[in-house]
Amino acid sequence: MSELTREETEALIQEVLEVYPDKARKDRAKHLAVNDQSIEQSKKCITSNRKSLPGVMTVRGCAYAGSKGVVWGPIKDMIHVSHGPIGCGQYSRAGRRNYYVGTTGVDTFGTMNFTSDFQEKDIVFGGDKKLARLISEIETLFPLHKGISVQSECPIGLIGDDIEAVSKKAAKEIDKPIVPVRCEGFRGVSQSLGHHIANDSIRDWVLDKRDGQPFAATPYDVSIIGDYNIGGDAWASRILLEEMGLRVVSQWAGDGTLAEIEMTPKVKLNLLHCYRSMNYISRHMEEKYGIPWLEYNFFGPTKIAESLRAIAAHFDDHIKEGAERVIARYQPTMEAVIAHYKPRLQGKTVMLYVGGLRPRHVIGAYEDLGMQVIGTGYEFAHNDDYDRTIKEMGNATLLYDDATGFELEEFIKRMKPDLVGSGIKEKYVFQKMGIPLRQMHSWDYSGPYHGYDGFAIFARDMDMAISNPCWSKQTPPWKKQPESGDSAAPSEAGELKKVA
Ligand code: SF4
Repeated sequence: MSELTREETEALIQEVLEVYPDKARKDRAKHLAVNDQSIEQSKKCITSNRKSLPGVMTVRGCAYAGSKGVVWGPIKDMIHVSHGPIGCGQYSRAGRRNYYVGTTGVDTFGTMNFTSDFQEKDIVFGGDKKLARLISEIETLFPLHKGISVQSECPIGLIGDDIEAVSKKAAKEIDKPIVPVRCEGFRGVSQSLGHHIANDSIRDWVLDKRDGQPFAATPYDVSIIGDYNIGGDAWASRILLEEMGLRVVSQWAGDGTLAEIEMTPKVKLNLLHCYRSMNYISRHMEEKYGIPWLEYNFFGPTKIAESLRAIAAHFDDHIKEGAERVIARYQPTMEAVIAHYKPRLQGKTVMLYVGGLRPRHVIGAYEDLGMQVIGTGYEFAHNDDYDRTIKEMGNATLLYDDATGFELEEFIKRMKPDLVGSGIKEKYVFQKMGIPLRQMHSWDYSGPYHGYDGFAIFARDMDMAISNPCWSKQTPPWKKQPESGDSAAPSEAGELKKVA
């Protein structure tokens, strides 16, 4: 669809809001905005990080998901216990495709599900003894693990178990770190508080463990923070940093180890990819150890080149020359990728609804392919995320925060993008409308998408989704003629009905 004017986008928002009851309409109006690049602070146009409205469909996760599923889970040589009933652990197991090297079940544990499997009697009498027994069993069965994190599910906070005392006692017994994490799902309004809690527990229980210990430092030591190695993202990033002459001491957290985390306070610069999930620990290291941090964006050749130069600016000429060498080396390959895919994708429009850094970080990669992002939104952003997004999005494009299922569906019906980039919960809704969707949480079983290698895959995947001939061959349900006697036939697409 062609671009909407500011007035048309505003009218669209009003029309979608119209169906809500008054109270809900007032609340949701604060979360929907027309982008204006001239605004310095996003709080003037959009509200974020608020409790989702009861009664609407939100796709947010919980604090446990933010801690176990995002921050702690990918640390590969630790065992992360989902402490509580079995479901939270089972449904958060291995879904994010955090690739790692190692022998699963021997020295790495990323795809396994460890749970205390709470039963009624554990809720009634407490689960501390069970946790102590579980830790002892882990030590017997998996002696090569380097430590344990205890990821609290909802009931742990409700029944008041003292997981800190159990962890301290057991850590002494097995002589390995055991980190209690108070990330019960009911805390906060989304997975975002889980990220913060997880960062704080790393600060309090891990980060100072090698303070004062010798370390063979170099002037070029950096860490990668907030890359979860989904489909190999961190690997595709790391090689660029190493090719330009830097030494990557640690990866947080995809394919990362406990030892790497402990050594991070020794580096010269922290490189932060996912700001939302790990800005807290980066700020802490800046305050306590004086380590500067820098946000970078490794999606698409334009942003990669900008980021490599920004990183190099923190170092000497050796690294600056290295960055130029890396950019020049990959340029012919990137030009070939763009020459192949841009003619097929030029002018195509995209709407995004994801979490973390993606709603703003992938915009440049789409633009490298001649595509335009006409709407974007975050599941669990704060306003500092929208501050960063306003400048990346075009004027009069649509911003939606914690979008409800209804809003997203209506926006997409009206704006008719050529591609939706969102999650698995949205995927089949939009594909049944005949709109291609790429799952942008875990790259739809593809990837990596970071780095130069990742861009070639990203371009191929977007083209594969959009150019697939199946989209022109299917008839969505609302365009089918109702069968005779079927009084519940769906209405025409786009028809809004007042719900109260
Ligand atoms: S909200 Fe509670 S019960 Fe639900 S997944 Fe999160 S921790 Fe588990």
